[in-house]
Parts: sequence; structure tokens; C-alpha cells
Amino acid sequence: MFPRSLLFGCLSASVAVGAIACSHVESSDVKSSPGDVVAAADSARTSSVVAAGLTPNELGRIPVFEYHLIVDKNGVYERTHEGLRRDLETMYARGFRPISMSEFIDKKIDLPAGQSPVVLVFDDASPSQFRYIEKNGQLEIDPTTAVGILTAFNKAHPDWRNRAVFCMLPAAQAGRSFFGDKNIEGQKTEWRYKKVKFLAEQGFELCNHTLYHARLDRAGAKVEEFIARGDMAIDSAVPGYKVRTFALPLGMWPHNRELAKRGTWRDAKGRTVSYAYDAVLEVAGGPARSPFDPQFNPMSVPRVQVIGDSAVTRTLAGLEKHGQRYVSDGDPKTVAKPITTASK
Ligand SMILES: [Zn+2]
Repeated sequence: MFPRSLLFGCLSASVAVGAIACSHVESSDVKSSPGDVVAAADSARTSSVVAAGLTPNELGRIPVFEYHLIVDKNGVYERTHEGLRRDLETMYARGFRPISMSEFIDKKIDLPAGQSPVVLVFDDASPSQFRYIEKNGQLEIDPTTAVGILTAFNKAHPDWRNRAVFCMLPAAQAGRSFFGDKNIEGQKTEWRYKKVKFLAEQGFELCNHTLYHARLDRAGAKVEEFIARGDMAIDSAVPGYKVRTFALPLGMWPHNRELAKRGTWRDAKGRTVSYAYDAVLEVAGGPARSPFDPQFNPMSVPRVQVIGDSAVTRTLAGLEKHGQRYVSDGDPKTVAKPITTASK
């Protein structure tokens, strides 16, 4: 076994000859001096990492799991209620904990040693993700919906924070309009903003997925309008909310890719709406690079679509098998990486 100072030695290259090397996070949020780094790596943290057989690797990959409908039967765009619960159990048991996309791109991955970040993204804002049940004039969250399952899991496991990302449509068909309208699946139109607000209050992240899911490669001159109106609707529900993440409908880029990242639209009344994102989500591509990886591109973040019962297990096992799993060293001030891939 390596002495503690070797496993967590991040002060200089000479103390990192054992398993890992570290470099300091370049962040204005770092308040402690580098001298605190080793002291922060207490023995409990060290032994938990060693016991789990996980070497800290903060250049490893982070899975961004993508869900759509939460229903009774699995499909390409469907995951069962029970399946989602099991996915959460699997992630939790294997030491994964959720972070938001904002935390991801801000490199604010503050997890205990040996744990790994995961991002859960729910696309399309269907009632199956967030449905209210009206009982004696009171609104209750349907426990079989994504929000019901996520909030129950958070209650049972307080270290599983509410950090899932909801990439929403405010005006699509089939109730995909901020989680339901027009009595589709019993959802009232007037509940829409309340739902979006609830998500923000609980710590979930609000993400734009355009106005109604039109393909941006075919949207012509309307690209900016479709995107801007998605942001506007979120602002109507949660005034002042800064939308930082945008998900491309069907993963299709507009011909002018820059317009998916930033743009401006002027409405009929002459009001100008501008948007500028910090992250753009693709629909596929596998686990994402660490934000500390020089090749990480926040403007094209790949995701893993959860199709079937084995998708999550297979993805997590694959990361471990290939030594690609992001594993925290427990110290947000340093970036731990395997010595083999350490750069100078
Ligand atoms: Zn979608």
C-alpha cells in the first residue's frame, strides 16, 4: 500500500510517484493555500479510496445519462418507473453522485474521495417526468414520475442531491409543454410554471430544448426564434433564471452552428431577446470528457441515452474496466490524475 502522502501528494511531482499526480485547480474559488492540500486528505478519505480499489482520476470520463419518457415499458425513448429507480440504485451503490451541468462546466465537482460524478438529463418535459395528482384541492407529485422518483431517492439518500437537468419544451404537442397542458394526462395548463419553479427551487437545473422541438437543421431563418422563445418561457416561469445549458433537438445542429450557442431574436413587439449558453448537449456519443481534460468541449457535450435495463450498468462497468472512470480525490483544490496520463 502506498503511504498516504503518496496517494494524495499533490504539492509537487516528487511526492506523486506512487499512483497519481495532481495539479492545482485554477479557480478563483480556491481560498486555501496549497499547504492545506495534504492536511485535507484525512485518513478516512484515503482508506475509503484504497478499500474501493479506486485510484483518484479527475481526468476520467463522466457519464451524462439521457432520459425521455418514464412509463410502463422500456423502449428507445422510454424507461420504466422501476427501471429509473434501479438505475439510481446502481449509480448510488457504485459510488456515483449527481452533479448539474453548471457544476460540470464550472469544474465544481466537490465529492468525497472515491466517488464519481454523474449527470442525469431529462429531455422533452413530458407529464411522465413531472405529473401532479390533485387530491382534495392539494397537488401531489405523482411518485411514479421522474420528479417523484428523484425526490424520493433524495429523501432516502441525502447525499444524492437534487441536481438532475431538465431540458424543457414550453410549447410542444402531446403535453410536452412544461410537463403537461390541456388536461393531457390530467395536467392543467396553469400548473406549468409552478412545476418549472418547483424544479429550480429544489436544486434541479433548467435547460432549454427549444420552443417545440423543431429540427434546427431544417429551421432556416427561425433557428434563433425557436431557441430564444425556449429561454423566454423559462424566464416567464422563473424570472431572472440564467439558462446555461441547451440541448439540441434530435442532436441536429443548425447550418450555422454558432446560432446553437448564442444568438438574438426580435419579437413582433420589437423586444430583443439574446441567449448565450455555457454548454450544448448532443444526444449521443458516450461518456463525456472531464472538464479538466484539455480536450473537453463544453459546446458539444456527448451523452449516453438510457435504452433498456442494462444501459447504465454497462456504461459504468465499461468506464471501470477501461480505467476511464472519473474518481474524485476528495479535494476540490487539486486535480488528481493517473501518473501514466499526467501532463507536465
Ligand atoms: Zn428531445
